[in-house]
Amino acid sequence: MTVPPTVKGWCPGAYRPMMSVDGLVVRVRPRLARLTALQAAGLCDIALRYGSGYIDLTNRANLQIRGVADADHEPVLAGLNALGLLDSDPKFEARRNLLIAPFWVEGDVTARLAHALLDRLADLPDLPAKIGFAIDCDLAGPQLTQCSADIRIEQGETGLILRADGAALGRAVTEKTAIPALIEMANWLADHVTPQARRMASVVAHAPLPPDWANLPPRAPARAPKIGLHPLGALVGAPFGQIDARALAKALTGTAGLRLTPWRSFLLEGAGMPAPEEFITAPDDPLLRIDACPGAPLCPSASVETRRLARALAPKVQGSLHVSGCAKGCARARAADVTLVGRSGKFDLVQGGCAGDRPLKTGLHPQDLMTGAF
Ligand code: SF4
Repeated sequence: MTVPPTVKGWCPGAYRPMMSVDGLVVRVRPRLARLTALQAAGLCDIALRYGSGYIDLTNRANLQIRGVADADHEPVLAGLNALGLLDSDPKFEARRNLLIAPFWVEGDVTARLAHALLDRLADLPDLPAKIGFAIDCDLAGPQLTQCSADIRIEQGETGLILRADGAALGRAVTEKTAIPALIEMANWLADHVTPQARRMASVVAHAPLPPDWANLPPRAPARAPKIGLHPLGALVGAPFGQIDARALAKALTGTAGLRLTPWRSFLLEGAGMPAPEEFITAPDDPLLRIDACPGAPLCPSASVETRRLARALAPKVQGSLHVSGCAKGCARARAADVTLVGRSGKFDLVQGGCAGDRPLKTGLHPQDLMTGAF
């Protein structure tokens, strides 16, 4: 029997893993979305030793080790601690929900602001677990506008702005005032969340921000970075956000570090492109247009396999495709050109919408879909 999708309302972490069909899912939140090559190799080793051998890359640029047995949680925590990847306090791990524009360089405004925020975590109020922050200060324009974050520090036309998610305009800040202003906005948010509105965008839809907090526009969004070589190294895609730990360990040879992005890709610092067998190494790879959650048998809410179908359909579908194990649509929150939604062992088809939207067709058999004729 398929279990209906549940909205858990909390984010799993290393201390508080989520139970899945294949075992615990242990989430690791690398600071500034970067691991040294040594940390990354150590994480691969943990995934191979205690997990399924695969590492998930989340849409908040975090990593997840899947398939950990209950009894192995302690050794995994010890391993993460030895690598410097564990917070000293679970409370701070939960608050360190920070997205950062991934092409920062040490000492630039993005890195300085991220460090400053990490130093002030204790001053943030208690907020719903999914509330997150973005430091998105690249001079080329914001890169994270499509990513989940409730309070954002961005570049405006004439300097930094602090912007509430859901508000088109932000508040002028300087590097010195940005973090105190962010904490002030977080306190405002804590005062305005309700059981029905637990994220900033839904809060500002009903509660107006103070007028001087919404009077400056952000710069136009930057172009999405493409898979390939960049000044900092090789930007490599992970199909469906899944990374083979053995292949990653091999690809780390000669790199200084590993940067994570919220776009199912990672950057091998100072390296060339790895072999394409396990990764997406070409910017026109059709898999880049496809989202698919783990589906069955890994998720109890799924009655259908998702990723095998997604791979088969990738070269046949024009535009974006989302294959979802159920109507919750974990792999993609925004609309896709085509969405296939699993239900009772078959698929419903949504066009130009999200997994929870009304389907155009229902009861499509997976075998028939393999041909791409729908
Ligand atoms: S969308 Fe996929 S991963 Fe999310 S609950 Fe449904 S089947 Fe599970």
